[in-house]
Amino acid sequence: MKRRTFIKTSILGSFAIGLGNFSKKEKTHILTLSFDDGFKDSFYKTADIYEAHGLKACLNVIASGHLRSFQSPDKFITAERGDFNDWNALKRRGHEIMPHTWDHTNLTLISLEKAKEDIDKCLRYFEENLNGFKTSDAVYNFAFNASTPELEQYALSKVRAVRTQGDYAINPIPSTSKPVRLGCWSHGPDNADKWVEIQVNEFLAGTGGWLILNLHGLDKVGWGPITSQYLNDLLKRLVKIEYLDILPAGEVLKRRSE
Ligand SMILES: [Zn+2]
Repeated sequence: MKRRTFIKTSILGSFAIGLGNFSKKEKTHILTLSFDDGFKDSFYKTADIYEAHGLKACLNVIASGHLRSFQSPDKFITAERGDFNDWNALKRRGHEIMPHTWDHTNLTLISLEKAKEDIDKCLRYFEENLNGFKTSDAVYNFAFNASTPELEQYALSKVRAVRTQGDYAINPIPSTSKPVRLGCWSHGPDNADKWVEIQVNEFLAGTGGWLILNLHGLDKVGWGPITSQYLNDLLKRLVKIEYLDILPAGEVLKRRSE
C-alpha cells in the first residue's frame, strides 16, 4: 500500500466533498464487490439489485462452468451455472463479465506450463464466446485467489489486471494504463454479511483507495454468500456517499487510464 497515494487522493477528496463539483475521477474511495463462479440465479439477482441502485455489477465466470465436462472442485460450486447466453445478456444490460479461470483449477498446484495453457484456453474461450470481450482490457480472477509471481507475470503479459490474494484488500487507485496486480480479500464458507459490513465501514472511515472484496453467490449459494437483502441495503446506503464510487474492476481501470 502506498501511503503517498492515499495522501494525494485524500487531499483531492476533501476538495470534492467541500465543493461538490469535482468529476468522478477525484473520488477518494472506490469499492468493488467482485462476484465469482457464475451462479445463474445469483448472478441475475445480483445484477437486478445493482441496477435498482443505478450501478453495474462485477461478475466473474468460469469459462467451462456451463459445460457437461465441468467438475466442481468442492461442494461450493454445485448450484447451476449460467452459460454464455446469460453472460452476453447481462453484459448487454451494462454489467461487467470477466474471466474466473477455465475450470477453477488451482493453478499453483499444477505445472507452470500447464497453468499457462489453462490461462490461454480461458481467455480464448472468452474471446470466442463473450461479445465485445478484449483480452487486453480484461481482469483475470484467479481461482481460490491462488497465484504465484510467475503466473501473475504470465497473465499480466496478456490482460490489464489480475485479481488475487492480497496482503491488503485496499489497493492504490491506479493512475496509469500499466498492467496491475489487484489484491482482494474474501470470507467464508458461511454467510459473509457481517464481515463485509466491517470491511466496508473500516474502509469508509479511512483515507481512501480501492477496496476489492471477493464474493460469490447470494443467500445460501456458494462459498461465503451474502444475503440479497443485505446487498440491497448496503448499496442503498453506499450510493449516498459522495466520496465513494461503486464500480466493477475493469471499469475502474478503464476510467483511470483515459
Ligand atoms: Zn471461484
